[in-house]
Amino acid sequence: MIIALTQTNEYIQASDSKAPLLKGLRCPGCEKRVFLKKGESKIPHFSHHPKEACKVFSEGETREHLEGKLAIYNFFKKKGYMVKLEAYLKNLNQRPDILIESKKKL
Ligand SMILES: [Zn+2]
Repeated sequence: MIIALTQTNEYIQASDSKAPLLKGLRCPGCEKRVFLKKGESKIPHFSHHPKEACKVFSEGETREHLEGKLAIYNFFKKKGYMVKLEAYLKNLNQRPDILIESKKKL
């Protein structure tokens, strides 16, 4: 996953320069602790403790998957849409990769 919750309940992106400095980051879905993973061949992302099962956020997303959702996110953001990465929808208990709000009123 690319988004985590901070101790002050704000969302932070894994690529944010502040992310490595923050402690106590949590999963927006299950609220368990997550850890920043960063490496030369990996794009920055958050991961649960291996022993903790999370029903909302799937782990092990491939590099292509993570890059793809960031590319789509950036594309729609530039076009002026309201876009959220990995928004956790509590009432549906789902976490779409990208949530885009329509400009038109439906
Ligand atoms: Zn979780």
